[in-house]
Formats: sequence, structure tokens, C-alpha cells
Amino acid sequence: SREGRSRTEIVAARKANLLPNLSISYAEPIKFVRGEGVWLTDDRGRAYLDCFNNVCHVGHAHPHVIEAIARQTALLNTNTRYLHDAIVTYAERLTTTLPPELCVAAFTCSGSEANSLMLRMARAHTGRKEAIVLDWAYHGTTPELIELSPYKYKRKGGEGRPVHVFEAEIPDSYHAPADWPVAEHGARFAESVAEQIAAMAKEGRAPGLFLAESIPSVAGQVFLPQGYLSEVYAMVRAAGGLCVADEVQVGFGRIGSHWWAFETQGVVPDIVTMGKPIGNGHPMAALVTTHEVAGSFDNGMEYFNTFGGNPVSCVAGLAVLDVIEQGDLRRNAAEIGNYLLECFRAMQARYEVIGNVRGMGLFLGIELVEDRITKAPATALARKINNGVRARGALMGTEGPHDNVLKMRPPMIFTRAHADLLVAILEDAFEAVLTGRE
Ligand code: PMP
Repeated sequence: SREGRSRTEIVAARKANLLPNLSISYAEPIKFVRGEGVWLTDDRGRAYLDCFNNVCHVGHAHPHVIEAIARQTALLNTNTRYLHDAIVTYAERLTTTLPPELCVAAFTCSGSEANSLMLRMARAHTGRKEAIVLDWAYHGTTPELIELSPYKYKRKGGEGRPVHVFEAEIPDSYHAPADWPVAEHGARFAESVAEQIAAMAKEGRAPGLFLAESIPSVAGQVFLPQGYLSEVYAMVRAAGGLCVADEVQVGFGRIGSHWWAFETQGVVPDIVTMGKPIGNGHPMAALVTTHEVAGSFDNGMEYFNTFGGNPVSCVAGLAVLDVIEQGDLRRNAAEIGNYLLECFRAMQARYEVIGNVRGMGLFLGIELVEDRITKAPATALARKINNGVRARGALMGTEGPHDNVLKMRPPMIFTRAHADLLVAILEDAFEAVLTGRE
């Protein structure tokens, strides 16, 4: 039995009544009608293994999260100007996952709002607008965040790098110059930030903030070399700037070993922003900072966000934390992530086109290259593999400046059986594409 409109009808209706610059995944779009756990089911009754959508952190339609949202929606939903248990309990539970200095939380409705609020705080604290970002980063939808997102301002439709924004190199070890000793990658890439600080100084400027994803994802699932953030944070702080970790994609235990990816670098940011998986699909986001920065922001102007931190959002957030903690899902992410890495490395030994395999927990990337020496991006091949994987019933994405990195962020409840299925599908897609059958 057909559910609703056909795919073709929906594409036509989108053209008539929605923005033309909304994109659609895949040349042949998919219409999903249900989600459960790691599965998304389409309008033809076909189930796809979802290895891509990190918002459904504890699995699509998780019963504990649904129940919490439904119960609270039926009881009360208001805003932060009335007292409620859930917001303070959530602030306590969330900050418990962070280093003790990071103890003041603010709630918003999207990662972009969290980053915009972060900017207001940083500007209030330092009195400076100047920012250092990493090349190919994306931090949000608003004009001031597009200005901090090379991924947007450098591409078609963008207006280029604004004068108050300074770009440091992507600290991508796989593409580091061959003569750099691996142990020095952190310090060598950090020099690019030092150069930006020096360039600012020449113009009589200094950094208000350094902003980076703790694992640059849009830049192609790039894992920062050891020592990188500690070097960079020291330089930025010496120049009077704040250090900000954007954990919107990578946070909430996805990397397994830690709650937050910045922890793997042994640093403590001044501000952390988070979103996507926080409510398992319920639109909420957060920022956590220190008493000091929060104090600077408290300049007499109220911060009020109509929906941010409402009781329903806060119980959704609490339910997600319950599921992660009670299900020991960080340990699961570490175990299954390591298993997937092993499998991908075995594939790398067989397929010359796999230049690099990388991951932490359930945040993974496979970089495809034309040639292992030149590391020239195999962009068309990555697209074919991604389509081949979809045809075989799994979802992943392509990412990076050349769109040649297969990107995977499966739900935290991913099992070994799911991992085996993903690997079987991926291997079959590689065989078909590399032998020219697809
Ligand atoms: N920061 C990062 C790293 C993101 O990936 C995104 C979303 N892709 C955002 C910020 C913005 O979040 P939102 O779309 O919820 O506004």
C-alpha cells in the first residue's frame, strides 16, 4: 500500500513550494516513511542500515526518548522564565560529563544558535571580533557563522574570507609533507595558527577566538594530530583569545573513549558548543562555558530564547543521557568502532584505492585516492561507492574538500552484526565498482 505522494510528486512539489537551494541526497532520491533503531524504511518497504545520520544518536525512535518527550508534552511545556526541575537537572548532568571548569550551560534550538551565542559571549569577553578558523570548516547557517565557515564563504555563492577572519591549514596528517616526522605533526600544523596570529599582529589585530571542530568532519573526518590543540590553545591564549570546541557533530560519546573529542587532545576549551545528537532528533542544542566567560556576557542584557531549554527539550536531553549511560554505549562505540577500523584496514590491504582509513569510536572515514603516492582524490569513485552502498541497502556519505572521503557515523547502538553487514555491503560495492560492473 502506497503511503502518501510518490517520490516524483514530492520532488515536483518541493520545486513549487520550497527553496530551490535545498539539496536532496542521491541522484535517485529516497523517501523514508519509518525509522527504528539502526534502520530506516522507505516507501517501498525496503530497510536501509543507517550508518550516516548522527542525530539519531541512540537509534531512530528510541522508546525511552519518545516516552519522555510524549509524557512531558502532555504535562507541561513553557520556557526558562518559570522554574522547572528538568533544566537544572539537565545542566547538572550535562556539565558532569565535562571538565569541572566548564560548568555553566545555555540552551538553544540548533547548533547554529549555540555557535551564534558563543560568538556573542566571546566578543563580550575579549572585545574582539577577530577569529581563527580551520580551512574547510562549517559552523552554522547565520550570516556571522557563514563568515566563519570557509566551506561556505569560499564556494559558489560565498563572498570570500571576511577581513576579521583568519584561516589556518587543515591539520590533516595524511596529507602532511612527507618530510615531517609523524611525532611533529601536531607542532608543525600548529605553526599555521602561529602564522595567522602573526598576520593579525601585522594589521594591529589579535585573535578574539580560535574555533575548531574537535574532529574536523566537513573537512573529511580529519583526526587532529597529537599535541595539536595544546600547542594551538597555548598560542591563542597567549594572544588573549578564547578557545572554542565545536562538538556539534562529534560529541556525546560518539568517539567512545571520551564524552567529548577535545578530551583526546588533553585540553580544556573556554566554550564548547553541542547539538545534533543531543535530543536524538528533538531540535535542541547547548553551549557550556566557564563562570568567567558567562560573567563577561552578563552585561545587563537578558538572554532569552523562546524555545531553548524548555521542559520538553530538557527531558529529551536527559533521556538521551540515560540511554547512553545505562546502555554503556560509549564502550560499545569504542568496541564496534575498533572492529570496523580493523575490517576497513583489511579492505585497505586489498584495495589500492583506499588511501587512508581513520576513526575513533563510531566516527569513521575511508579516503579514496587515484594513487597512493600522489594521494590524488578519487572523487568519482567515492560517489560510485556511495551509490553502490545505497543500492545494497546502507547509508553513508562522502565528505572533504574533494568529496573523496566515505563518511560514517552510525548510531551508538550499532552491534557487531550491523558492522559485519556494513562491511559486507561495502566490500560488495567495491568489487562491483572496481571490476566495472557498476
Ligand atoms: N557546527 C557543525 C560542526 C555542524 O556540523 C553543524 C551542522 N551541520 C553546525 C555547527 C550547525 O548546526 P545546526 O544545523 O543544528 O544549526
